[in-house]
Amino acid sequence: MIADLKFNFYTNLMALILDGKIARDSIAEKLKNTFLGLGVPPQLAIIQIGNRDDSNAYIAQKKKFAEVIGAKVEHITFDESVRKEDVVRRIEELNNNASVHGIIIQLPIPQHLDEYELVEKISPQKDVDGLTSTNLKLLWSNKQGGFVPATARGIVSLLDYYKLPLAGKRITIVGRSILVGKPAVLMMLNRDATVTVCHSGTCNLEEDTRHADILIVAIGKPKFIGKEHVSSKQIIIDVGINLVSGQSLEEEIEGTQLVGDVDFDAIKDVVSAISPVPGGVGPMTVASLFENVAEAYTMQINS
Ligand code: NAP
Repeated sequence: MIADLKFNFYTNLMALILDGKIARDSIAEKLKNTFLGLGVPPQLAIIQIGNRDDSNAYIAQKKKFAEVIGAKVEHITFDESVRKEDVVRRIEELNNNASVHGIIIQLPIPQHLDEYELVEKISPQKDVDGLTSTNLKLLWSNKQGGFVPATARGIVSLLDYYKLPLAGKRITIVGRSILVGKPAVLMMLNRDATVTVCHSGTCNLEEDTRHADILIVAIGKPKFIGKEHVSSKQIIIDVGINLVSGQSLEEEIEGTQLVGDVDFDAIKDVVSAISPVPGGVGPMTVASLFENVAEAYTMQINS
């Protein structure tokens, strides 16, 4: 792997593919071995409100991964028109249930509900999506003991897996959402990178993307980043998950019809390393969520 990387840095003929499935499988193996000897398996509760196709597919992926590693998933569904009080009551029951170690609300939720208000009801010790104010504060202050949103953790784990250092690197992150961009910014800062953040108001995007050692893109725009945005020797992390029009989500999730925010074919021969879509950050997100569940489990049984 390291030999491959040198090949790419110095000859720049073809990018190293940062394969999230291989890295995910290595995390799965570790989690599976850790969970083997446990009397009570770690359990994640997933609250789903409504019946969106994309949410159904993402939840199916989580259940499948849990099965592989020997964790349990309780899938709680509410009708699209559910009242806030009913969801809050269920969250409180889960907070008080010692056999549930992690709780997430599958986002997005219907507009009549406030996602921040609902997420805040989850006990911080079970908030394995890392979205409660307690966990966000820990991330802001670079303190241990909290949970980091899974996609941001997955990006860092993918770079770590390929032994690509972050400290001292110039990292540009395109996208500033609370779920991906902002936590990724903080994680990179906490790892001593120098971070530039871009968004829809950025004036000279190409200038900010081209000067980076590592470019992370999370904007939700199919193949938006092209040759003009990149330069040689860069490492590209493509977070985007975009449906190619006319394809079904099932096909997409199976891995045949997905495209990222980066035009992979246009830049793969220019840059040093690149994560593909599918098979890059996506698999890492699921694995990272269950790493959070495993940590929640350990904290709870030791408290
Ligand atoms: P989001 O909440 O819609 O945020 C998109 C961000 O991109 C915003 O900050 C927006 O800027 C910025 N943006 C949009 N167009 C831009 C442009 N032309 N130039 C520069 N910045 C632009 O999306 P998200 O939840 O972060 O998700 C982003 C993508 O990642 C989506 O494709 C999503 O499906 C995918 N995703 C993948 C995973 C995974 O596991 N691989 C997990 C989560 C999300 P403003 O703030 O100025 O509006």
